[in-house]
Amino acid sequence: MTSFATLPLKPALLASVETLGYTTMTPVQAQSLPPMLQGRDVIAQAQTGSGKTAAFGLSLLQTLDPDTIRLQALVLCPTRELADQVSKAIRKLAANIPNVKLLTLCGGMPLGPQLASLTHDPHIVVGTPGRVQEHLKRGSLHGGGIKVLVLDEADRMLDMGFTEAIEDIIGRIARHHQTLLFSATYPDEIRAVSQRVQHNPLQITVDAPADERPAIEQCFHEVDPAQKVDALAQLLAGDRGQHALVFCNMRKDVDALAQELDRRGFSALALHGDMEQRDRDEVLVRFANRSCAVLVATDVAARGLDIVALPLVVSYDMAHDPETHTHRIGRTGRAGEAGLAITLCTPRERPKAANIEEISGTPLPWRPLKISPSRGKTLHLAPMKTLVIDAGRQDKLRPGDILGALTGEAGLAAKEIGKIDVFATRAYVAISRALANKALERLRAGRIKGRNFRVRPLA
Ligand code: AMP
Repeated sequence: MTSFATLPLKPALLASVETLGYTTMTPVQAQSLPPMLQGRDVIAQAQTGSGKTAAFGLSLLQTLDPDTIRLQALVLCPTRELADQVSKAIRKLAANIPNVKLLTLCGGMPLGPQLASLTHDPHIVVGTPGRVQEHLKRGSLHGGGIKVLVLDEADRMLDMGFTEAIEDIIGRIARHHQTLLFSATYPDEIRAVSQRVQHNPLQITVDAPADERPAIEQCFHEVDPAQKVDALAQLLAGDRGQHALVFCNMRKDVDALAQELDRRGFSALALHGDMEQRDRDEVLVRFANRSCAVLVATDVAARGLDIVALPLVVSYDMAHDPETHTHRIGRTGRAGEAGLAITLCTPRERPKAANIEEISGTPLPWRPLKISPSRGKTLHLAPMKTLVIDAGRQDKLRPGDILGALTGEAGLAAKEIGKIDVFATRAYVAISRALANKALERLRAGRIKGRNFRVRPLA
């Protein structure tokens, strides 16, 4: 149990912490606050609810000098909702420091009032990357005095395509600043960004208690070759089938299986090396943004997939070697919940299973599978649907513009909008399936960034 009083915090901040009723630090706070207060760059793995906002909020307020009228701290968030929440939390922590000016600057809001409130630099800005970048470019915001930059929910910001905007912002602010990066997950992309924008960062991971640690549950079923598709369809019909990766050993089987699953009512797509790069990108986007429920892939093609934690992975064909098997099952397992890796094994594939068993040194978890004959077509649709906009980076289109068009004029709630991917000439946006038609109509009737672009749904 660590008390906040052990930290070298200003009395005004200790008073706020007490008013808020925080008696002891959360694990993320206990690990990140001491190095952050010493001025070190930190990369911390922290989920919502971990107390991360108070961690970086206290740290940036500690270094703030309210008597200097300059922008000193910048917090970048993926969405307006989060930016509002973070602003509120920082205001509460700053309640006992007189004259702290904090401004929230997000896309999807009119620019005029924001410009009006920027006649004097605020001390702190909390905002979304696109809009903050715009103000820095226009000169309505000055980054030369920034001492602390916070990237909150960095993984989501990268998912939403904000990488370029963030790097541009960093090029426009004071060279010497502290960078605090918070992210729920650590994919390679986050490590790469950290390497580019942070200086010798201290990495903080808070171990989940053993019973909350993601585990991989394995399961082997022996099935007759003639029953394999029925077996798979039955396994995919469960909850976990909403986001599942299915491995086949051969390209031709990938196509045939995806088509068969589609015929049976699953949102399934195929991914293999014979496809055009553009089609492959599109499939990866649709699987990652949850508008395709089942991805059928070869091992090589699945390497391009940047989702590391899927609820379900199925080896439809047994992997040729134990190493490939281990790689496949490693794609499952998500925070706090066991991932399930199912392997279908025909009697002829038994020697491969024996090989895996020998290498792993433990008996394989064989389970009987009672296969009921398929009862016609039942729809198992993915929760999201993808809309394609025929415009991209070349048209200076940014994720914030799309988000703005959908939440602004089109009147959709931000929570109905999923991942946004902007490529050179196209952009993809995922919308809750039930609202996809409404979003499509509104986008077609309205404008994005003041222009009309062609928008179409992907089946
Ligand atoms: P966050 O992870 O930043 O979204 O914070 C989650 C919640 O935890 C917020 O409601 C905070 O007010 C609360 N909180 C943050 N730090 C502490 C603490 N040390 N003790 C108790 N509650 C806290």
